[in-house]
Amino acid sequence: MSISTKADQTKAPFSLPQLPYAKDALQPVITANTLEFHHGKHHNSYVVNLNKLVENTDFAHQSLEAIIRATHGKTDKVGIFNNAAQVWNHSFYWHSMKPGGGGKPSGTLAQKIDAAFGSYEKFREAFVTAATSQFGSGWAWLVQDGATLKIVKTGNAEVPFTAGVTPLLTIDVWEHAYYLDFQNRRPDYVNAYLDKLANWDFAASNLH
Ligand code: MN
Repeated sequence: MSISTKADQTKAPFSLPQLPYAKDALQPVITANTLEFHHGKHHNSYVVNLNKLVENTDFAHQSLEAIIRATHGKTDKVGIFNNAAQVWNHSFYWHSMKPGGGGKPSGTLAQKIDAAFGSYEKFREAFVTAATSQFGSGWAWLVQDGATLKIVKTGNAEVPFTAGVTPLLTIDVWEHAYYLDFQNRRPDYVNAYLDKLANWDFAASNLH
């Protein structure tokens, strides 16, 4: 997906994108209180930090994706990578959910899930396992790898596309994503995400 975080050129290069729904739209799974902090504070901090780090550098004129690819694995650019990747990851995560989402996907995406995992139920089990077994902070993803689909997990700010796969859907499993609503019960958050929030239309739109 293309994420429009490029701001007016006279201002800081990146800006916090608006949520694609109201702050209370994902309740009761994810409360407005969580989104207030997660979008308004955490996501915003990554944007503010990135703008400071790229000020007066060539990166100020590049896309987020270009910055992420250029700084990935570079030990002297880890701050820029972390903040750029977290800006991108969070924008992708907001679109990975919608009010009234979740349950089984349909159409081409459902066929690809059946082909890759055997059934929706087996996909679901593997996704829950990935999201709950990511040690510490990170992300679980449904990705397209060539003709097939896979589930991957990434630590901290890591994104899947630097490994050559296309992200379709993600869940943030940093504690800040769920602690206010679920405390330490990450499995309950992951299950509720799959049953009530997953935006399969968005995932299908990312297939190529
Ligand atoms: Mn987060």
